[in-house]
Amino acid sequence: MNTHTTSITSRTAGLLGEVLRPGDAGYDQARALWNGAVDRRPAFIVRCRSTREVAAAVRFAADNGLLLAVKGGGHSIPGWSVCEGGLVIDLSPMKAVHVDAQRLIATAEPGLLLQEYDAATQAHGLASPGGEISHTGVAGLTLGGGLGWLSRKHGLACDNLIEAEVVLADGAIVVANERDNAELFWALRGGGGNFGVVTRFSFRLHPVAPMYAGFVMYPAAQAPEVLAHYEQLTRSAPDELSLMTALVSAPPAPFVPPALHFQPVIGIAACYVGPVEEGQQVLQGVRSFGQPAVDTFGVQPYTAIQQWFDAGVPHGLHYHCRSEWLDPLDSDALDALAQAAADRTSPLSQVLVRHMGGATSRVDPTATAFRFRSVRHILTVAAAWEPGDERAEVHRQWCRDAWNRLRRGRRAAAT
Ligand SMILES: Cc1cc2nc3c(=O)[nH]c(=O)nc-3n(C[C@H](O)[C@H](O)[C@H](O)COP(=O)(O)OP(=O)(O)OC[C@H]3O[C@@H](n4cnc5c(N)ncnc54)[C@H](O)[C@@H]3O)c2cc1C
Repeated sequence: MNTHTTSITSRTAGLLGEVLRPGDAGYDQARALWNGAVDRRPAFIVRCRSTREVAAAVRFAADNGLLLAVKGGGHSIPGWSVCEGGLVIDLSPMKAVHVDAQRLIATAEPGLLLQEYDAATQAHGLASPGGEISHTGVAGLTLGGGLGWLSRKHGLACDNLIEAEVVLADGAIVVANERDNAELFWALRGGGGNFGVVTRFSFRLHPVAPMYAGFVMYPAAQAPEVLAHYEQLTRSAPDELSLMTALVSAPPAPFVPPALHFQPVIGIAACYVGPVEEGQQVLQGVRSFGQPAVDTFGVQPYTAIQQWFDAGVPHGLHYHCRSEWLDPLDSDALDALAQAAADRTSPLSQVLVRHMGGATSRVDPTATAFRFRSVRHILTVAAAWEPGDERAEVHRQWCRDAWNRLRRGRRAAAT
């Protein structure tokens, strides 16, 4: 904490909401992020319950020259939602959600996690696109774009944003939509959290019934063939078919044969956002490849699909992640993916590839701040390790090396 910050920590006039300072009960919990490697100590954490309290916190930070960070679901991987010194606006108490099932619109406050938002919308048989891990925040995910199981059919989370209420840097409260504050509305859809504090989101909803969905898993030795199969499936995938492949360690789950527990595996996960009978037919193409050691396919509610992989990326581990758009996914890229997984230095680390396209690619790239509309796949290389692991730098380096190799291949392919 710098001297300037120290001199104002005793003055909180103008701040509304619950204010936490170092040493207060709940302070450490409120500053913790999903990524346990991020350890920052703000001077103030203001747990806001309303737009008015957010506006007061923004003005307080501006008046006192304080660095300001905004925390929604706390899943910023580099930790942008908590600052060292300065003031954190913690939006987690703001969790109201209202579903208008007639007009197909959901109004959501920015402290909601996907699992809370999905539960409220699915109670009406409706949903709007989110991500694949249900403990991620609706706010940060939407502001960054937001890609998940429903995206090839219904677009990114930000493509379904109809309106947002925003507290600007001077504390003014505005509404942004296609008509009012249209430039701000453009920036909020994929531009990240840099344009103000969003205190209310309105999303377009879609009917989403239980779907045919699941995943298959194979020992990692079969990675080259399974990756090639994944790539082949994506070539002819209809918009309803959502696919990803993951190179991970098998969990000790009841559906995994004991011999594979904790062993390196490759999986293909898929769901069909459409009629179950159609899904059964289309997904036969996924299930019939080779002899999967695990096959979980069946009819599943969207809320269950959204939570499949939650336990694989728990809060508090230390993470170092890199992402890249992959296009094309040619044989060099497939080799590099298999090699990256084989070289993992921690059994908790993961290599993931998700298929994009479909509705996400049919939005004009200039219509929103999210401009990566023509990309076919997104890669995530995620290094993960237990707190206190002395090989932390080795794990980080694995992540950087794998990512660099995959990026080099991509550049070479593009020239
Ligand atoms: C385990 C995991 C799984 C993920 N899976 C997916 C996925 O499937 N699809 C996908 O698209 N992305 C995914 N992501 C990326 C994720 O969408 C981003 O990390 C997102 O920013 C997290 O949002 P949050 O609200 O949880 O995080 P936070 O850390 O709270 O916020 C992230 C950023 O948004 C800003 N912000 C948060 N709330 C507001 C607000 N109300 N107004 C203005 N700015 C705000 C913060 O200041 C910060 O810069 C995943 C991330 C993790 C860690």
